Amino acid sequence: MMDFSLTKEQQELISSVKNMASKEITPFALQAGETEKKKMLKSLARMNLLCPTVPKEFGGLGLGLVSSALVVEELAAASPGLAAIVAATLHAAEPIILAGNDQQKNEFLPLLTGREAGAAAFALTEPEGGSDLNIISTYATAEQTGYLLNGCKDYVINAGIARFITVVAATDMLNKKASLRIFLIPGHAAGLKTEEIYQTSGINLAPVGRVKFVDVGIRDQYVIKSREAGSGYLLLTQTFDVGRALVSALAVGIARAALEHALHFAENRLQSGIPIKKHQAVAFTLADMATKIEMARLMTWKACWLIDQGEDYSVASAMAKLVSSTVAQQVTCAAADILGARGYLQGNLIEQLVRDARVLSTIEGTNHIQRLVISSQL
Ligand SMILES: Cc1cc2nc3c(=O)[nH]c(=O)nc-3n(C[C@H](O)[C@H](O)[C@H](O)COP(=O)(O)OP(=O)(O)OC[C@H]3O[C@@H](n4cnc5c(N)ncnc54)[C@H](O)[C@@H]3O)c2cc1C
Repeated sequence: MMDFSLTKEQQELISSVKNMASKEITPFALQAGETEKKKMLKSLARMNLLCPTVPKEFGGLGLGLVSSALVVEELAAASPGLAAIVAATLHAAEPIILAGNDQQKNEFLPLLTGREAGAAAFALTEPEGGSDLNIISTYATAEQTGYLLNGCKDYVINAGIARFITVVAATDMLNKKASLRIFLIPGHAAGLKTEEIYQTSGINLAPVGRVKFVDVGIRDQYVIKSREAGSGYLLLTQTFDVGRALVSALAVGIARAALEHALHFAENRLQSGIPIKKHQAVAFTLADMATKIEMARLMTWKACWLIDQGEDYSVASAMAKLVSSTVAQQVTCAAADILGARGYLQGNLIEQLVRDARVLSTIEGTNHIQRLVISSQL
């Protein structure tokens, strides 16, 4: 049996996020500076949307992945950078929700909920590389009652603003992949430093930076699944699969915003005495854009639905992310063509969306890596 309809609660959720975004995000998104960003984060906190998967008993909305993807799509259609802040926070919280103990849930999850909510960060990539887990050099030395963390993580979304950072580190340098553990580092931990915030091409509202750990002391209770052998790698792949489904939703939101803008332009721009939408070449381009978005959205929903059902979702998430990120890049470029010269001007929405979409084939594992995941399971 199949059902593609949204529940009444999901329809109300979409409509409330859309309503808030149309008043408090979209009008400011293109020119937003630090003040506007703070206001937007406050709007998200007011609606408890910074990390909607946090269970209700820890102050969250307790949403499943399908509902969270709906939220991320709406936010991305309004501001891709803001949606990236939320997607990174969801990724950082996922290992705690999936495998954290009560103490970890009680201490860290409420930081992401309610009116005072903040963001969190997930840190895996290092300056030497992101695709190859065998070259991780961030190292946690086991001590009697915990660990001492040293190393450097790069391109971390929410660096500098994160209430906590979920860090992946090796605990045995001779056997890195098998010894990976996931550590929870409070944002104010001694020895944790944000070294640099980068100027990125897109998703500009999201701070992306390099963080360094120098002898950061971690108590045993801040290690997810503690010292259980092999637990870190499995948990890492599970959370990546969730992160990919959310990036897929982000891609759908960006593509949708580009289609809506291009459609409005095509209905109002006259050439040869008629709206350009009436020229078949433009109409067919719009049709292709809408069709690709539908494909990407359905694949996103399927991956999220499998996650919510507790079924095997690894391939579905990788496929959704691969398709949606490609669609977002194709659709934003097609929208730029429809806008003609305007689509190439800085400050134009479509020019920004092209740059926002560009990063989607890199984050949460590059699309080459998604193909590795998919082909390894064929
Ligand atoms: C804006 C932005 C935000 C980011 N946010 C985060 C974050 O919050 N947390 C975090 O941990 N990381 C983050 N990243 C890092 C991102 O996940 C990595 O950039 C990505 O995993 C690729 O790593 P790399 O850049 O080191 O490229 P590399 O791993 O060096 O890869 C370079 C190229 O080689 C290809 N390649 C590598 N290995 C293989 C292989 N085995 N088979 C086929 N092709 C291969 C890659 O696909 C890529 O095309 C972010 C990056 C950006 C740009």
